[in-house]
Amino acid sequence: MIRISRGAEPTTLTRAATTRLSVAAERFNLHGAPSDELKRKLTGYNARSTKQALFLAQKQKCAWCERLTDFSSAPVEHYRPKDGAWRNLPHEPRKVDGGHYWWLSWTWSNLLFSCMRCNDQAHKANYFPLKSGTVAASPPAAPLSVPPPVPISAVSGEQPLLLDPAGGLDPLDHIEWRPTKMSFDRRDWTWTPLGLTVEGSATVAILKLDELADRLQGHVRTRLLPSIEEVEAHVAKRRRPAARQRWKKLLENNLVPEAEFSAFTWYALGHLVREDYRILHGLAALERPGAR
Ligand SMILES: [Zn+2]
Repeated sequence: MIRISRGAEPTTLTRAATTRLSVAAERFNLHGAPSDELKRKLTGYNARSTKQALFLAQKQKCAWCERLTDFSSAPVEHYRPKDGAWRNLPHEPRKVDGGHYWWLSWTWSNLLFSCMRCNDQAHKANYFPLKSGTVAASPPAAPLSVPPPVPISAVSGEQPLLLDPAGGLDPLDHIEWRPTKMSFDRRDWTWTPLGLTVEGSATVAILKLDELADRLQGHVRTRLLPSIEEVEAHVAKRRRPAARQRWKKLLENNLVPEAEFSAFTWYALGHLVREDYRILHGLAALERPGAR
């Protein structure tokens, strides 16, 4: 996961939010939340223009796992779930706040482009636990005026456990990838996500990022190691400028926002090509991927 910058809100979403929020508020006033009547009105946030804007801002990758993701089959996902928030972690008993966060269904800062895996019921689903000892934003009380005030209920005071890749934090400070089985050939190292903070650990658990281990081992074998071996061959034959050039190209191809698994790659390269070797041979430092 890397830091994402969404860019400007599509005007079609702004327009849809105004009208759809009013309709939802009417349903809320009549039936409350959670209710099927309200839930049925929480649609229209995934118009093509909205999804396209997220898809391009995220460089065609899932916000959570950074896999290159097909546009047509993937969903627009809500950071704060639109029809009830699960306040527990996956290994804990389910604890549902049913009244949250329907009013953010069309809020640009709450939308992300996701792959099917990460968005499904076995992964992100409706998980939205908060830090221990902190409280959730108050859900709105009926009756709401129509059109409703904006924001209906501010959530900025909440301290979520799930990392928000577009929330300004750098996910690299929260989730690290480490190799295990390092006594084996580096082709056969397996890679494990490790939470560096409570937010990182919760995010790894919710998204089950450890399931990506096989994909990432394949990424190392087919994408990173062939290039690293070229760099090393240049170094061994004392072709320093060529080694530096090849290394630079490797970074340009794999640590840019467009590159698949760039957060993982940043950590993996640090283990595969150690810092003392890089310094000794004048290879460029590893720059963090993700939006500035
Ligand atoms: Zn994903």
